[in-house]
Amino acid sequence: MAAQAKSGVARPRHVPQRTCIVCRQSDAKRALIRLARDASGRVAIDPTGKRPGRGAYLCHNPECWSQALRRHAVERALKVAALHPDDRATIEQMGRQLLQETMSTASS
Ligand SMILES: [Zn+2]
Repeated sequence: MAAQAKSGVARPRHVPQRTCIVCRQSDAKRALIRLARDASGRVAIDPTGKRPGRGAYLCHNPECWSQALRRHAVERALKVAALHPDDRATIEQMGRQLLQETMSTASS
């Protein structure tokens, strides 16, 4: 049982700025929503930002969420060939949720 160091786990030297993959707006980590890709290529919304694996960030603008799907920005950022239909639905759902939040904030 030799302890082998895992190769390919490259740690960045400095913490990269969190940037929305659609509008390129960078913001404090909290203001962006993380999407994480696991080893099997499934993509999930990661509100805590603690999931391991490759991550991509989207801002709270619902337009960015729909654009991300339309322009395949999520696939590109997370290096997946195609989004799983369920994961795509999750992202669409999140976009709708943000849209509702935006509208309820605007009307109150
Ligand atoms: Zn954005």
